[in-house]
Amino acid sequence: MRVKLTARWVVGFEGGSHVVFEQGCVVIEGGRVLHVGRGFEGEVAEVVAYGEAVICPGFVDLDALSDLDTTILGYDNGPAWKKGRVWPESYVAVGPREMYSVEELAFQKRFAFAQLIRNGITTALPIASLFYREWGETIAEFDAAATAAEELGLRVYLGPAYRTGGQVTDDSGNIRAVYDEERGLKGLDEAVAFADRIDGMAGGRIRAMFAPDRIETCTETLLQRTHAIAAEMGAPVRQHCCQSPVELRLVAEQHGTTPIDWLARIGALGSNWLLPHGTHASDRDLALMAEHGATLVHCPLVSARHGGMLRSFPKVRAQGINIGLGTDTWPPDMLLNMQLGMMMARMVEGIDAIRSEEMFDAATLGGARALGRDDLGRLAPGARADITVVDLSRTLQVPDPVQTLMTSASARDVRDVWIDGRRVMTDGAIPGFDETVEMTRAQAQFDHVIAQYPDRTTGHPPVSEIFSASYRRA
Ligand SMILES: [Zn+2]
Repeated sequence: MRVKLTARWVVGFEGGSHVVFEQGCVVIEGGRVLHVGRGFEGEVAEVVAYGEAVICPGFVDLDALSDLDTTILGYDNGPAWKKGRVWPESYVAVGPREMYSVEELAFQKRFAFAQLIRNGITTALPIASLFYREWGETIAEFDAAATAAEELGLRVYLGPAYRTGGQVTDDSGNIRAVYDEERGLKGLDEAVAFADRIDGMAGGRIRAMFAPDRIETCTETLLQRTHAIAAEMGAPVRQHCCQSPVELRLVAEQHGTTPIDWLARIGALGSNWLLPHGTHASDRDLALMAEHGATLVHCPLVSARHGGMLRSFPKVRAQGINIGLGTDTWPPDMLLNMQLGMMMARMVEGIDAIRSEEMFDAATLGGARALGRDDLGRLAPGARADITVVDLSRTLQVPDPVQTLMTSASARDVRDVWIDGRRVMTDGAIPGFDETVEMTRAQAQFDHVIAQYPDRTTGHPPVSEIFSASYRRA
C-alpha cells in the first residue's frame, strides 16, 4: 500500500546530501521510501497532507535516554560522590541491590521508548544509569525492551550494559576503582547470547549492540572480547569515555595513559565504536578516533547541564571524525540538543564555526554512518521509511526549514512519526500509550527511587539533605 505524505517542506536526499523541496512529497511503500520530490504521478492508496510542516528523516539517537533520568537530580545538587552517584563503601559492604523491581525496569524501558518517539527519534541505542542497579543491566529487562520496541514500533539497537568494575567512595570523596572481572565477563557472555537471539527481530527493526559501561569500569579482557565479538557480528559498541576528570584520573592510574590511547593500545577500537561524550578528549585521543574511524557521540544538553562542553564540534569535524548525536538526559529532546549544540560550538569557536545543516547532518546522517547504515537518516528511494514530521504552523519561520528547526521549533512541535513505513505517532498520540496514565506511573516510580537515595549516599543523610530546595517551602 502506497502512502503519500505532503507538506510545505520536505528534507529529501540527493547526490550524497540532504536537499530541501518546497511543497514536496514523500511516497512510502512496504516500509521503504519509494519517491521524494515536488510531485508524484503514480497512484497512491492514501494521502496525508501536513500543510505548514517539515517532513524530515527521523532522528538517530546514539545515546538514547532509556530510564527515568536520575542525572537531573544532580542539577543543583553536587558533588556527585556526595549525592548518591558514587557508591559509598558502607553501601557496597551490605551488598548493592536492585532499587527497581523487574516490572519497574520493564516499565521504564517502554515509557522511555514512547518518549523517544514523542521527540521524533526513530532509531535508538538505549542508555541508562547503573547507579541504582545491583550491578549490570539484565537480560529480562532487555527482553521486555525488545517487546516494547516491537509494540511501539521504534527502531532499536539493544544490548544490556555490563562491566567488570565500579567505583566506591569513602566519606571524604576519595574515589577508587574496584573490580569483579568474573562477574563482568559473565555479563558479556549473557549479552552475547542475547545479541544472537534478538538480532534481526521485528523484521530487522531490532538489532544487537554491545554496551560495556563507562571505560573506567572495564578491564582489558572485557573490552578486547567485546571488540572481537562485535566485529564478527557487525554490531556497534558504545563506550562512554573522555567525559570526566575522575575518569581520566582512574584510567591514568590504572593504565598510564588516556582513555582512547588505552583502547587503541589494547586493540579495542574500530569504526563500529561509538564514543560518548568526548568533552575531556585530548588532541591525541581525537587523532586516534579519526585514525580508527570511530564515531564521537555528542550530547550537548547533558554536558552543558554539568558545565561541560565539546571543544569543539567544528574542530572534531575538521579532523575527519564522524559525529552522531545523543539525548542521554531528560527530556530526550533532539531538537533542543541540536539547538544547544550549535550555541555551544559558537561559544567556543565563534559564530562562523557551524551552520544548521552541519548539526542536522549529525542527528541524521552521522548517526546512520556510525551504524554502517546507508538506508537510515535520509529520505531517498530505497531508504527505510523512518520519518519525523514537525509542525511549523505555530511558530515564526525563517525562509529555510532546517534553520527554522534550529531557531524556532521544539520537541513539542513533533506531530507525526513513521518508522519502517508504520505510523507510530499521529498528532502527538502513540497507539497503546496513554500519556497521562503512563506519566503518573513514571512519576510514582521516580519518587520511589528518590526515596531510596539515602541507602547509597555517603553518610546516609535523609532525602531532604541530599536534594536541596530552591526557595524555602512556605
Ligand atoms: Zn551518555
